[in-house]
Amino acid sequence: MYRCKFYKGDYRERQEQANADRCAAYVEHHFNSSTSPSASYAVVITGANASQTSRNWGRWYAQAVAREFNLSAGGDQGILVGGFDGRGDFNLRFTDMPAILLEPLFASNPRQAEWIRNDDGQARLARILCDSIRRFFQSGGLVGFSVGHKYKRSAPNDRGAAVVGGGWEADYAEQVLLKAQAMLEEVVAPQREREIQVFAGEEILFRQVIDVDADVTWDGVRGVLRIDRAVPTVEPRSAPRSPAAPKTRPRGKRTRPSKARRTRRGRE
Ligand SMILES: [Zn+2]
Repeated sequence: MYRCKFYKGDYRERQEQANADRCAAYVEHHFNSSTSPSASYAVVITGANASQTSRNWGRWYAQAVAREFNLSAGGDQGILVGGFDGRGDFNLRFTDMPAILLEPLFASNPRQAEWIRNDDGQARLARILCDSIRRFFQSGGLVGFSVGHKYKRSAPNDRGAAVVGGGWEADYAEQVLLKAQAMLEEVVAPQREREIQVFAGEEILFRQVIDVDADVTWDGVRGVLRIDRAVPTVEPRSAPRSPAAPKTRPRGKRTRPSKARRTRRGRE
C-alpha cells in the first residue's frame, strides 16, 4: 500500500518532482551535528508554512526517537518551525504535501554516532519513521524520500557532517531511508486496531491487539506490563441498575469499534 521514491537534484527540484508525482508525504533525512560532543536531542524541522499535520507528524516522530534512545526532544516539543535560523526551510517550503526534515541524532556525539553507524540503530530509526508514516498516512500512497546533502546538482560532493568513528551524515541517512522503504513496502493493510508489541532487536516476540481505551503501564522494576481496560466489560456491582440510564462514552475521536468490541458491547 506504500511506495517510496527517492528524489535527487537540488532541494527545490526534489520538492517540485514530488508535487508532480502527488506524493502523500515527504521526508528529508539528516543527522544533527555540534561543536560540543555532548549535544544530544531529537528534533524535526518543518517549513515555516507547514500544515498542522506536518507539525503533529514531526512531533510524533521526534518524541518517539527521544523515548526510544532516552534523549530529550529539542525545539518546541520536538519541532523547529522554519528551521535553524531559516536553515531547513528551503528544503521543505515548496512541497504541497505534509513534509518533515529529520534530525534524530547527533553525528558529533560519540554514543549517538555509534547508533548512526550500526545496522541495529539504523533499523530502530527506520522503524520509528515507518510507524509514523503508517500513523499519519493511513490510506497509503507514494512517500517521497530525500537524502539530505547528497545528490545536489549544485554541490555534488556534499555529504553533510562527519560522523564520529567514520563516515558521513548523508550516507548513513540514506541507509536509514532504504531500511524504512523496505519496511513500508511490506505493509499490506492499514493499522486498524491498537496493538502492543514486544521487540528484541528487529524480531517481534509478542504482539497483542488491545482495547483502544485501555490504560497501559510498564513497571520496569517488577517487569510487569499491565493493560487495564478503561471500558469495564461488566457493570460495577454498585452501579444503579437503571435500564434508562444513558451510556456515557469518553469524548474525543474514536476509531470504528472492532468486531470483538461490538460483540462485547452487545452483552452489556
Ligand atoms: Zn544535514
